[in-house]
Amino acid sequence: MDLLEYQGKQLFARHGLRVSDGKAVTSVQDAVAAANEVGYPVVVKAQVLIGGRGKAGGVKLAADEAEAREHATNILGMDIKGHIVRTLWIEHASDIASEYYASVLLDRSAKRPLVMFSVEGGVDIEEVAEKTPEKLVRHHVDALAGLSREEAVEIASKGGADADVVDGVADALVALYEVWLSEDATLAEINPLIVTPQREVRALDSKVSLDGNALYRHPENQGLSDAENEDPIERRAKEEGVQYVKLDGDIGILGNGAGLVMSTLDVVAQAGGKPANFLDAGGGSDAEKIKEAVDLLLANDAVKAVLFNIFGGITRCDEVARGLIAAFADIKPSVPFVVRLDGTNDVEGRRLLQEAALPNVHAAKTMNEAAEMVVELAAGQPVGTGS
Ligand code: GDP
Ligand code: MN
Repeated sequence: MDLLEYQGKQLFARHGLRVSDGKAVTSVQDAVAAANEVGYPVVVKAQVLIGGRGKAGGVKLAADEAEAREHATNILGMDIKGHIVRTLWIEHASDIASEYYASVLLDRSAKRPLVMFSVEGGVDIEEVAEKTPEKLVRHHVDALAGLSREEAVEIASKGGADADVVDGVADALVALYEVWLSEDATLAEINPLIVTPQREVRALDSKVSLDGNALYRHPENQGLSDAENEDPIERRAKEEGVQYVKLDGDIGILGNGAGLVMSTLDVVAQAGGKPANFLDAGGGSDAEKIKEAVDLLLANDAVKAVLFNIFGGITRCDEVARGLIAAFADIKPSVPFVVRLDGTNDVEGRRLLQEAALPNVHAAKTMNEAAEMVVELAAGQPVGTGS
């Protein structure tokens, strides 16, 4: 579960990390009132679950009320890489002497927590890691012992923090580790961790992901999943109780059973396609359920073609075919569908589909064949009607 910047900062503050005073608002009027309250200059910051807000124009300094109003007006409603800005964070602006980087995450391959620190903050850290890896200190922590202050000091010095702020950076690292550990976060990142001209170390940004499976241990964090900022289709899926995940390609994937859906993603990727989303329809095969699933998949405009992958076991392929035919009587999909029916009663299922002659629906027998067809269709190429 990803948190917005200001929510992450609230967790930071709870564990003694320094952050600037600010307010979260959802209207221009409240933004101006908040700016007046925290005192100028202020920073007006888009709260969306995506990085690079600064570059996209979603982070602006305002010297007075007129500027605060102007920036709030421009940023509210802004589309940042597909994320619409509905909330602003207004904080008192900081003077910056240096921008550092700090993060804590679980390194699964090393099976240990990993603390990273760099004095090259404020920029894309992946680029630092790639071009100047010597400028990114990576330190694995003994999970049972935790991050000691001595270790933190060593990380800060090794990373090249200015000598007079090594202690301040070490404090920040220990606090960040504490956030990560005690809040059951999967990632706690600060970019930039700034040094002010007064030599104070402060978190200017936050990126925190909490482990959703551990939320039951943190009732105080349960309200942080901000429905406003969630993907609206994912929210709808959650409400309807289906497993739906949005990705960034152009092929919709629908299957019955988590394992089958996962392997469908792999096969489509292997055929050169990019999934736009995937949905696990579970065991059901009735028309209502299929219609719901298809509706959800198509709610994503990026979808150019859909692969419906069914392996019949207890779920019979002829029932699925009937469900599909009934569903398609209602929805007139605007994009082509490839339906792969295999397993119990598959021959009958494919025969029903063929007889129904649904426009834009192609039947396939194997997963590979289906994947190749859907990739061609998504690319706008015609294919045969299948087997
Ligand atoms: P991101 O672009 O989504 O990572 O958003 P950040 O919160 O990291 O802000 C982007 C950049 O805006 C930072 O790296 C800073 O350079 C700048 N910035 C943000 N807050 C302040 C501030 O209080 N004062 C100053 N001078 N610059 C800021
Ligand atoms: Mn940042």
